[in-house]
Amino acid sequence: MSINVFSDTLQYFKGVGPARAEVLSKIGVKTCLDLLHYYPRRYLDHSNVSRVIDLSTKGANVTVIGTVLSCDVVQGRNRQRLEVSIRDDSNGHMKLIWFQGAQWIQRVFAPGQRIACTGEVSRYGRTWTMTHPDFDKLDEGGPQLSTGRIMALYPGSARLQQVGLSSKAFRHIIYELIRTRGLEFPHVLPRWVQQGYALMDGRVALRAIHFPKSHAELEQARNRLKFEEFFFLQLLLRHTQKNRAERKGIKLNGRGIRYEQFINDVLPFELTQGQKNALKSIEYDMLSGSPMYRMLQGDVGCGKTVVAVAALILVVDSQFQGVFMAPTEVLAEQQFNSLCKYLNPIGISVGLLRGGQRKRAREQILAEISCGAIDVVVGTHAVFQEHVKFKNLALAVVDEQHRFGVEQRASLVAKGNNPHMLLMSATPIPRSLSLTMYGDLSMTTIRDLPKGRKRVVTRLFRESSRPEMEKMVLEQLQQGRQAYIVYPQVEESEKSDLKNAEAGYLAWGRLYPNERVGLVHGKMKNQEKEAVMAQFKSGQVQVLVATTVIEVGVDAPEATVIVIEHAERFGLSQLHQLRGRVGRGSHQSYCILMAEWRQSKESRERLKVIEGTTDGFEISEADLKLRGAGDLFGTRQSGLPEFRLASIMEDTSILENARQAVAALWEKDSDLRFPEHQEMRHYFENFVLARMEGYARTG
Ligand code: ADP
Ligand code: MG
Repeated sequence: MSINVFSDTLQYFKGVGPARAEVLSKIGVKTCLDLLHYYPRRYLDHSNVSRVIDLSTKGANVTVIGTVLSCDVVQGRNRQRLEVSIRDDSNGHMKLIWFQGAQWIQRVFAPGQRIACTGEVSRYGRTWTMTHPDFDKLDEGGPQLSTGRIMALYPGSARLQQVGLSSKAFRHIIYELIRTRGLEFPHVLPRWVQQGYALMDGRVALRAIHFPKSHAELEQARNRLKFEEFFFLQLLLRHTQKNRAERKGIKLNGRGIRYEQFINDVLPFELTQGQKNALKSIEYDMLSGSPMYRMLQGDVGCGKTVVAVAALILVVDSQFQGVFMAPTEVLAEQQFNSLCKYLNPIGISVGLLRGGQRKRAREQILAEISCGAIDVVVGTHAVFQEHVKFKNLALAVVDEQHRFGVEQRASLVAKGNNPHMLLMSATPIPRSLSLTMYGDLSMTTIRDLPKGRKRVVTRLFRESSRPEMEKMVLEQLQQGRQAYIVYPQVEESEKSDLKNAEAGYLAWGRLYPNERVGLVHGKMKNQEKEAVMAQFKSGQVQVLVATTVIEVGVDAPEATVIVIEHAERFGLSQLHQLRGRVGRGSHQSYCILMAEWRQSKESRERLKVIEGTTDGFEISEADLKLRGAGDLFGTRQSGLPEFRLASIMEDTSILENARQAVAALWEKDSDLRFPEHQEMRHYFENFVLARMEGYARTG
């Protein structure tokens, strides 16, 4: 078996060469195998092409094939545009128009060139036009590749075009690759899996996804390749889990005096059932002898911090140290304060590592950490990347874990001798996603909220009802409560958001001269931010105008109303998180969404979801549907592979089959020793694992 197809770089491959190879490697296509997995963006079906003379409805979405007649940059009243005229076989004319990207697009076309374009048609006078169509050059009579009815079109960009990598070029290169090396492609799935799940053969599938003979064949090929995506992710998760379980973990002694003191004397309330159950699992893990790798998820306000505190006490009771990692300095500071409140009375010392600390102070703390004088350290990932040495770290708590990348988690793991990991997340992860992406870790969910919490009332207001909104807020303030007014994030480039927040700050100051109004935004120094937050928490400031720096974790129980300005600009999970800032005490709380009239359909749906439910699980399911898994839970930064074809939401039965297949494989041969598994193993180790090096290190 020749295996060069894994590692051969593309440079010397026919039709590629150094310039193209370099551009390709920038988009992650480095080897022959990468190129095979560079799937078409869409397909052109020749049996589905419209003739210009048959066009009748404006706004219809059609594909037209024609020959370029001319290609000109035209100076319009306000701006330039590129106009390309084409004539199709029905002798009909059409004008293609671009307002953007005119320069590089112009270089693509030359009179006489055959092209296919897809888009919405409209009509000016007697001319049919398409603005910003999806387009591609066609092969002029070339080899068999273009005679197929369905033709693959590949992602295009200016960079690719510069080195001539049009869809046509991709088709030729990939065709050549399959022709000359096709018999070297590995059989990545064992025969029993392929047969057991009635999958198309792997080599056939790779050919068919690039050169489908029919829609049915394409469908089968896609299903086979989706199955592979799910299959190898599941295998990766099993593999990581197995590696972890085989390592020796730190074995704790169990509850000590301080734990009992904490539960009986320090805690001002009784733990909810969900909190108790979570603690039981954590305790079980940390006494088991294997390293814990557990995710604790629960809706905002369900009380995850207390659970983490109890876990830290277990660790300290066994003479070890713990660390608590927060995503921002503000949160680290706040968590430090609440940890001190719980831990100092029972004689546990807590240290805060912060950015910008004086050198002397920092050295002192570092020394105390390394000699064990500090039991629990709080800080952001930034401070842990530097030179922090623990005496004997046994537990790392990662709060709001979805805000951290794999690398950061890995660097924490490296600090100790297989410390236990407790990852906490306030964005409930839908089951479909958690099984797929987090199958390698144990999962605990807190489903109940502390007693006496009232559901937050959510209302959507238009700009025209602003006075009404202001009245609602005022009523709360008059009862001695506090309010948040939130503006979208201040981006480096977008100064206007900050202006909004500043204007809001002044306006609220004028509206309520008796109330103290504070302002926090991302551009402030941490110390300034913390000072304002502290004033808010202590009640000196009644109205806190903020950009989204307050998004996670801030805890002020007297705050009963949150106004979210430009709510249409926030994502669903973000809105849910923001709403979680109120309703943390026993008073009725309100969330007011201020939105513009004109919104996209998607943002309207988002606001409807938020108005309709306060259940975090429902919200994240909806978010997953609206946005896809990519941005949602930081899966992009989780280090796990992204699916190219498969979709967690839509391909559930393929996912289920792949999961079953991996389970069966694991039962038989978890060491992957059987002869019939060697080709798969080779592919897994050299292709899948090699790319996932960062992820593998988190365990
Ligand atoms: P989150 O899960 O969002 O991180 P926190 O840990 O910040 O939630 O807790 C939210 C609030 O609920 C805090 O003020 C905390 O003191 C309080 N709390 C936590 N557990 C309980 C409980 N069992 N009973 C009453 N209040 C609780
Ligand atoms: Mg929290």
